Amino acid sequence: MAMHVAAVLDRPETWRSRRIRVRYGTFTARVELDRDNWMESGQHEDRKISDDFRQAADRCVRAGIDRLWLEGETRGFSWGSGDYYVTLFVPVRHADEAVRALRAAEVRGDTRPLHRLADKLAPPYDKWLSPGERKLQLGVDFRCPPTRLVKLLRAQAKERGMRANARAADDGVWVRPELTATAKLLQQAYPDQYADEQLPAPAHAPDASRPPVDRRERRRYRTAVPARPLSFDMPAPPDCPCGYRNHVGFSHDRWHAHWSIGVALTESMSPRTGIVMVTPQAPSAWCRVAWESSQVARRQGHYDTGTWPTETGTEAVDDENLRAYLALSNGRAIGYLAVSDAEQHSWLEWDTGGTVELTDDARRPRVNIIHVVQVWRRRGVARRLVEAMAADSGVGVREVSWSTPFSATGRPLAKSISPGGVWVS
Ligand SMILES: [Zn+2]
Repeated sequence: MAMHVAAVLDRPETWRSRRIRVRYGTFTARVELDRDNWMESGQHEDRKISDDFRQAADRCVRAGIDRLWLEGETRGFSWGSGDYYVTLFVPVRHADEAVRALRAAEVRGDTRPLHRLADKLAPPYDKWLSPGERKLQLGVDFRCPPTRLVKLLRAQAKERGMRANARAADDGVWVRPELTATAKLLQQAYPDQYADEQLPAPAHAPDASRPPVDRRERRRYRTAVPARPLSFDMPAPPDCPCGYRNHVGFSHDRWHAHWSIGVALTESMSPRTGIVMVTPQAPSAWCRVAWESSQVARRQGHYDTGTWPTETGTEAVDDENLRAYLALSNGRAIGYLAVSDAEQHSWLEWDTGGTVELTDDARRPRVNIIHVVQVWRRRGVARRLVEAMAADSGVGVREVSWSTPFSATGRPLAKSISPGGVWVS
């Protein structure tokens, strides 16, 4: 799209001359007064744009853009506001008038043509948003898609403290403006201040009535039949198997999810499936997962203290070499095994049920607690965790030690891993 010079304002024409250029698009003409070289070749102070001119131009550019949007232009507009250029956007059919108006303002200081053009271009939003119900006709009042006009009306209504209450139809837009609740309250509180802005009752019958909405839309506004309470007593709420006693509310929901499907990893954490070993020196994201998992295990087992010391991680290293093995599936921690190294162990034989007088002070990894979330139980997750931990610690799976007393699920697990007996500590 070429710029076409529509007028040269200074004679004889030199590089310093002010020009008005027009760039034509399909709908839109961009009309621009170019004062750039002219400003540079004289005293800046003398050549500034007057407030009058600036005001008229601002009105005109605003009105032009509102009109263009109404006519279906979809692009945005940008222009400068300095003394070097004055830019207007108008429908192509108004380009010549815009050139004349800019020339009158620049050469003669006459801004009336600019104001006349602005009046002509500005859509009648004040009229459309006055009281009453009316239909704006596609092809008569506007040319953009009706849904687009609904948006424009909403924006205009908002600026006026109103709600457009507009609905698009195939061939137009229904609009029935209302004051917003806030505006109504303000008016009630300060009637004097708002006297001018008060929405008067319509003096005449509405221009028209909008037809009822179709059935699908109506369903959203149906009259609801209230829920009817019956006089039946409910039993007291049970303790939830997740160990959460206060049975309602968001914290139980979150807790119960941790207990039943696992603690979610954050987006950036990886791996997301498999088994990972973390220490309290790990990044805080991993420490958070270990911490939440340990709290679930604690509450499930009704223990007083958790097995993971920190929610955010630490630099301090303890000599028990505390660590956690986390079983992961699809971005959730579904199994938690807390381990520390211990040096005092006795041998427990399953058959006799008691501890044999056999002790040992080898340094062994000790299972402090092992917990698998509800939906993942009986799938071999706990066994995999113990096997992974033993391998990672450099001992056979029967060499690991178990903290006692065993939980109801811990005993059969240890027995299945080491059928003869196990080290306990
Ligand atoms: Zn629960």
